[in-house]
Amino acid sequence: MQKAGGARESIAADKETAMESCIFCGIQAGTIPSARLYETDNLYAFLDIAPANKGHALLIPRTHCADILGVDPALGREVLEAMQRIARAVVSVTGARGFNIIQNNGRVAGQEVDHLHWHIIPRFERSEMPLWKQGAYESQEEMNRLATAIRVQIGI
Ligand code: AMP
Repeated sequence: MQKAGGARESIAADKETAMESCIFCGIQAGTIPSARLYETDNLYAFLDIAPANKGHALLIPRTHCADILGVDPALGREVLEAMQRIARAVVSVTGARGFNIIQNNGRVAGQEVDHLHWHIIPRFERSEMPLWKQGAYESQEEMNRLATAIRVQIGI
């Protein structure tokens, strides 16, 4: 028979399994090598091994979570400060003219490593990396309906 709280225990067990096999957990712990850029008690940053451009950095929380929905929002200020410091340094060292910050959630969005990470990618030419093809709504009404549905779901 399942004990009370069994569901919670099994989620915790799944998380433990994910952490044991997580390459970014290993990188932040120092058991897997990386080209370190920045670290605090809560965050770690290193160079992406297969960069979109040289200097492409990855910033991760040390604590394992799969994506943006799992992270403690209280970490936000520290994350923004780290992004600013890393981006300034990457741009300065590489001579980039701009940079992208990209964060993928889910396979369909291009996420390959299931440990939350922000890409900081130095940019030299606009044409070197297409981002997305701009689409369109069928009507202003369709757009307004969707905005209303999302607002209701957010609960404001
Ligand atoms: P994403 O597709 O958003 O999940 O991005 C995962 C990124 O992690 C990719 O850009 C990979 O090149 C990068 N990556 C995977 N393994 C390593 C590693 N051992 N060291 C550095 N970067 C890695």
